[in-house]
This record gives sequence, structure tokens and C-alpha cells, in this order.
Amino acid sequence: MSLYGGIEIGGTKVICMMGTDPEHILSETRIPTTSPGETLPKVITFFEPSADQLEAVGIGSFGPLDLDPDSSSYGCITETTKTGWAGTDILGPIQSVFGLPIGFDTDVNAAALGEQRWGSAQGLDTFLYLTIGTGIGGGALVEGNLLHGLMHPEMGHIPIPHDRNQDPFQGICPYHHDCFEGLASGPALEARWGARAETFSEDHPAWALEAEYVGYAVVSYILTLAPQRVILGGGVMQQEHLFPLIRSEVLEILNGYMHVPEIIKDINHYIVPPALGNQAGILGSIALARKTIGH
Ligand code: ADP
Ligand code: ZN
Repeated sequence: MSLYGGIEIGGTKVICMMGTDPEHILSETRIPTTSPGETLPKVITFFEPSADQLEAVGIGSFGPLDLDPDSSSYGCITETTKTGWAGTDILGPIQSVFGLPIGFDTDVNAAALGEQRWGSAQGLDTFLYLTIGTGIGGGALVEGNLLHGLMHPEMGHIPIPHDRNQDPFQGICPYHHDCFEGLASGPALEARWGARAETFSEDHPAWALEAEYVGYAVVSYILTLAPQRVILGGGVMQQEHLFPLIRSEVLEILNGYMHVPEIIKDINHYIVPPALGNQAGILGSIALARKTIGH
């Protein structure tokens, strides 16, 4: 059985995996994301003993990233606020050690690919994977292709209607204050309400407001991408009771527009959690490795 390497580079941890598919995972490890000089060598050390058995490697990383193969900074993280990581070459050091085909994309595009191959988007060619966690990001396939364009989408930073009478919270995005991520990410919930979101009860007022913001964002993506399905993942979406609230918001905001049965009649199967759960990103990186060599 062919073996592939997957690397999911997150803001707090890097997950490394060797395997073939969700049923055939050979090994996995988690490495804290400290400095690039400390973290990346540990990633290489994990794969090195088995490197000659790997056919390809897939890397899904937090960004923003340079994904233009013709650019001199291809494979680098660009202007992140994460200390020490701006300008870091992710792809180069890994490529030079392994000499293997390497797929490189955003963490959310990798997750989208994983969900298409093994999860909630099987059989679909145009859909969205959105994560709501420490940050908010969206990956998409559009007519079968991972969406890149000019660098890649930054769906977490779209403007959102913000009624300051209802919610006087300023927002936490260092660039835009009250963009989607600034209002609705895990750290935004913590800053607004003074405790981590995982500690809130189901009747906490945070959830109705969260569902409204997520609803507005999802409607914007539905209207611009016309996805066949919307997958909502990330730590905050582990609150399963958010799904019915978000579905209602989306129907209310759309107000009968996008009149297709998938949305109007079957929204429970239209806005869904990732079937791969919190493994969407790392299994997606395996899927990215496989896609890179056409497997
Ligand atoms: P990351 O984005 O760092 O990869 P997560 O997707 O787990 O990791 O997101 C972490 C954020 O999500 C934190 O702000 C945390 O408070 C929030 N979070 C994690 N688990 C839950 C939960 N079960 N319910 C609500 N919020 C959660
Ligand atoms: Zn922003």
C-alpha cells in the first residue's frame, strides 16, 4: 500500500501523519508551533526515518501564504501577526530534505479536499469548508478545482453587519477590528464575554449572536460561490446546537432567494459539520499529497 505524508501547520500545533486514508494511518504526532527554527526541524525528524517509503507529502498551512509557483517567495508564510513566522519559508526546507513531490496549500483548502475525498462533500465539485476556531478561514473547491486566484481567499475577514447597539464589542481583528473573524472567532467570543467559549452553557446569549454573524457570512459565500454544500468546522462549531440556529439565520437572511430545494427544503444536509471532524485538516493534507501525484 502506498504511503503519504501529511503536515498540518496550525497556529498552536503542527500535526504530522503518515498514512494512506482515514482507515490506514500508520503514525501521527503533534508538535507545538513555537519558532520556525525549532518547529520545522522537529517535523523533518518525524518523517526522516520513513522518508524513503513516502510517495508524496502534502502541507496545509495557516497563512497568509504565497501559493504562486512563479513567485520568489512561493511556499512562504507572508504577513502573519504570529511572532517569528512572517516571511518563513515552509516549503523550501521540507522539499530540500525529502526530494519528493510536495503539495502546498492553505489548511482550509486541504481540509476541503479531505472532506471531498472521504467526508461530507463526496461527489460534489463546488463547496465550501469554513473553520471557526482561533481564526476563521474558508477553503473551497469550485467546479473541481481548489480555489486560489490572486493568492487565496481570506474568507474570515469579510465585513459583517454589526449593530453596535445590540453588540457594542469592538472586535479583535488587528487589521479590521469588527470583520467576521474579529467578531466571531473563538478569541473574539472570549474577549467579548470574558471566558472561553467551551465553558458557555447552551442558553448563553453568545450563541444567538454567533449564529447571526455566521449566518450573514455563510449567506455571502452562498451568494458569491453558489456552493453545493457548506461545511462548518473548527473548535467553536463543536457546539452542535449552533447548527440549527445558523440554518435558521441563513434561511431568514436569504428570505426565499437562492430558491433551490437543496437550501429551501433540505438545509439540514446543506449546512453540515465535517465528517472527518477535527481530522479534516490533517487527512486533507494526505489527500493533497495524493492529488499532487494523481493518486
Ligand atoms: P485552532 O483554530 O487553533 O486550530 P480550534 O479549531 O480548536 O483550534 O479553535 C480554538 C478556539 O475555539 C478557541 O478560541 C476555543 O476557545 C474555541 N473552542 C474550542 N473548542 C470549543 C468548544 N467545544 N466550544 C466552543 N468553543 C471552542
Ligand atoms: Zn479582519
